[in-house]
Amino acid sequence: MYPSRFRYEAPHSLDEAIALLHDGGDDAKVLAGGQSLVPLMKLRFASPELIVDINNIPGLDYHRVDAEGNLRIGALCRHVDLERSDLLKTTQPTMAAAAPLIADPIVRNRGTLVGSLCHADPQGDWASVVMALGGSVVARGPSGRRSIRLADFVVGPFQNVLEPDEIAVEAVIPAPKGVRSGGYLKLERRVGDFATVGVAVAVETSGETVTRAGIALTGVGGSTIAATEAGQALTGKPLTAESIEQAAELAAQAARPRTDHRGSAEYKRHMVRTFVERILSRANGTAERAA
Ligand SMILES: Cc1cc2nc3c(=O)[nH]c(=O)nc-3n(C[C@H](O)[C@H](O)[C@H](O)COP(=O)(O)OP(=O)(O)OC[C@H]3O[C@@H](n4cnc5c(N)ncnc54)[C@H](O)[C@@H]3O)c2cc1C
Repeated sequence: MYPSRFRYEAPHSLDEAIALLHDGGDDAKVLAGGQSLVPLMKLRFASPELIVDINNIPGLDYHRVDAEGNLRIGALCRHVDLERSDLLKTTQPTMAAAAPLIADPIVRNRGTLVGSLCHADPQGDWASVVMALGGSVVARGPSGRRSIRLADFVVGPFQNVLEPDEIAVEAVIPAPKGVRSGGYLKLERRVGDFATVGVAVAVETSGETVTRAGIALTGVGGSTIAATEAGQALTGKPLTAESIEQAAELAAQAARPRTDHRGSAEYKRHMVRTFVERILSRANGTAERAA
């Protein structure tokens, strides 16, 4: 099917893009990689009257560490840039594990991490990863910039808190307070599919002690789920078989899966438990080998 008629604008500056969105109001949409928006338009689940394509705006395709040690990912940084990033491979184990698991190579060439966060699909992989890492989104609108924690940014399936005239300009992952470990595991029916179950775990340790732990879940609820109690169960002590088991159980309890053609709710909950245990056991093994 063809999309409904729409006006297309491709401004060369953020100010221009924001002004266009301001005039377009609720009928305007930002286009980044187009890997979620275009299929929705072709199915006519979305029929915006104005598309504001941000791909001509220079200086948004970066991912870099700032002076405070935060990782900043610009709105036009593609999934493939993150998949191939040496910076991620050496400093961001959870992100590095997730990047090759997003969709397929064609989608990864165009799609963006920030677009994925804005799309707020409960099956979107990046939202769990950024949530587990305690990340945030920086938005720019007519009245300036504001930073929104990812936990507050996604408010429901396919819903975020951006105003119609705001653009998400970057995602920010805070600097670690210790040595970072963790990972991302995804159960998919076939390579390139959306997650039946996805689990992101991000742990920071100082010496033997876990100083921060974040666990977030993909595809097992109406939106991305922060398994906050599971993360807290790991914090302030060393990783042990007991604390890993406890965190895995709490994460499984936080999941809200539904039985469907991909599997029963109980099977998905079981996979959450298994994935949390697997990622943390590997992290624990790495720590023991490093000691
Ligand atoms: C076949 C296929 C398989 C896929 N599989 C997966 C998968 O396994 N895992 C996964 O996580 N994703 C998957 N995706 C989705 C893909 O990752 C998209 O790239 C991503 O969800 C959206 O990023 P985008 O840049 O393409 O955004 P777009 O499609 O351009 O936009 C998506 C939405 O976000 C808004 N938006 C985008 N950027 C901004 C911005 N900077 N500021 C404000 N609003 C913005 C748009 O207005 C739109 O509403 C798949 C997509 C396809 C087509």
